[in-house]
Amino acid sequence: MIISNTVSKLAPSATLQMSKKAKFLENQGYKVFDFSVGEPDLFPPDVLFSEALNAIKSKAHTYTPVSGTLPLKDSILKYTEKYQNLSGWTARQVCVSTGAKQVIYNALMASLETSDEVIIPSPYWVSYPAIVELAKARQVFVPCEAHNDFKLTSDQLERAITHKTKWLILNSPNNPTGTVYDTQTLYELAMILMKFPSVFILSDDIYESLSYTHVLCPHLLHVCPELQSRMLVVNGISKSLAATGWRLGWGIGPDSLIEAMEKIQSHSTSGSCCLVQKSVEHALNTIEIESYLNKNRQIFSSRRDVLMKALKRLPGGEALKCPEGAFYVFYPCLELLAHPKICGLGWKTDTELAEGMLQYMQVCTVPGSEFGKSGYLRFSYAVSIDVIKEGVAQIENFLKIC
Ligand code: PLP
Repeated sequence: MIISNTVSKLAPSATLQMSKKAKFLENQGYKVFDFSVGEPDLFPPDVLFSEALNAIKSKAHTYTPVSGTLPLKDSILKYTEKYQNLSGWTARQVCVSTGAKQVIYNALMASLETSDEVIIPSPYWVSYPAIVELAKARQVFVPCEAHNDFKLTSDQLERAITHKTKWLILNSPNNPTGTVYDTQTLYELAMILMKFPSVFILSDDIYESLSYTHVLCPHLLHVCPELQSRMLVVNGISKSLAATGWRLGWGIGPDSLIEAMEKIQSHSTSGSCCLVQKSVEHALNTIEIESYLNKNRQIFSSRRDVLMKALKRLPGGEALKCPEGAFYVFYPCLELLAHPKICGLGWKTDTELAEGMLQYMQVCTVPGSEFGKSGYLRFSYAVSIDVIKEGVAQIENFLKIC
């Protein structure tokens, strides 16, 4: 067989699988309430399009430097300082890639040996374990609990670190839980990390602009700048500017790591699209972007409130705590599974529940098991208020008809 064992064993992205099933039903004429989506349903800011048109008018068409153009890197550093209050890097320490996913892929591929371990707090974004698997290294999952808002604790971190640990992956605001790490927890984690100088930290900040309680999303480097020399900060425009299809992300970190990531990129995709790079370079620090980010933060936080209010009416919903960021609610579904109507249908797991809800109620969610935590469903609120209200009402109505 031509396919390697590693890839044969790799599961395709669960989120995309569920969305595909939702689309299939839609094409058959069903009205589907699709809460599985991991991308904003809003339009990117106009300035991104007008700058892209300018890039086309200037007839930009050639390869760019592999790790991105210098003016774009300068623009990214300015943006990172303005919106994340993080600074102290030079343009040489930035690598622009085809989305944040490629940044993470490059970083792990560039650094992992087969004997290395990567600490992944669970629940986790599905691609972290997959990429570690592709790098043939070992995932060390640390189960994080709902009573602690799914945050990794300093004790858990200390227990998980061994002499083989190369990376800790932190993602705040978090996919799939919506959790935002608070300053105190970050400080406690930082103190442990200071004791283990060989551990690198991959800070996946892709949802950083969607933090509803704090305007400035708390960051490990705010509480412990000393970690900067062993941290890769990952960000991009997919979620913040609703530009998932533009495929532009960046990593900022130590020179040697960035150089190695660039080497991998030079033999795979080369630099990302020159037109997109030019557009982002010009748009990123404009006043329009600032108001766009503020407006989107308000839109998503209102939707979150509507979804929370609705989910609280479902079995087990009262226990839900309001997530502080990203656009996900991680709903505990054991009480829903115990509902007589659901029991009667024989659905026993979150996966069966998600499948059944799609077939019987046309409500599409992603089961927690796919993120390493069974007994949950992930609801994305990157959908309209109408879809949120009608979708949850659909579940309530289904439970009532016995
Ligand atoms: N990191 C997390 C936590 C995500 O949820 C996603 C996308 O869903 C990414 C990274 C990838 O982002 P991009 O579209 O920039 O590759």
